[in-house]
Amino acid sequence: MVAHAEAKFPNECCGAMIGKIDGDVKHVTLAEAMENAYAGAQGARYELRPEDLLAADKAAREKGMDLIGIYHSHPDCDAYFSKTDLQNSCPWYSFVVLSIQKGEFHHANSWLPNFDQTDAAKEELIY
Ligand SMILES: [Zn+2]
Repeated sequence: MVAHAEAKFPNECCGAMIGKIDGDVKHVTLAEAMENAYAGAQGARYELRPEDLLAADKAAREKGMDLIGIYHSHPDCDAYFSKTDLQNSCPWYSFVVLSIQKGEFHHANSWLPNFDQTDAAKEELIY
């Protein structure tokens, strides 16, 4: 995920996080890079194609794993969850945001949106 985010700098990258859900703990063991499908400037925006997400979900299930969430990067920006991020989120996925400062990984946070997509709680993220 870090390598992908650094490679796409100064654009935003995005991808799927695949792994296992064990009670309250989500273990991401596989990151699947996806194409940023946003048609405009990608320095502060990303967009996932629904069919790419469906394919990632299917691939995860075929491996006996779960699609845990989505990651994306914030080039030269903190790893907060923006209003746009909230609007494009789904409440059953975890959203990891990676802050890439001057092309290098700086920090990351994980966010869990609520069902109304009005707020996202910070999840404990161990990496
Ligand atoms: Zn974002």
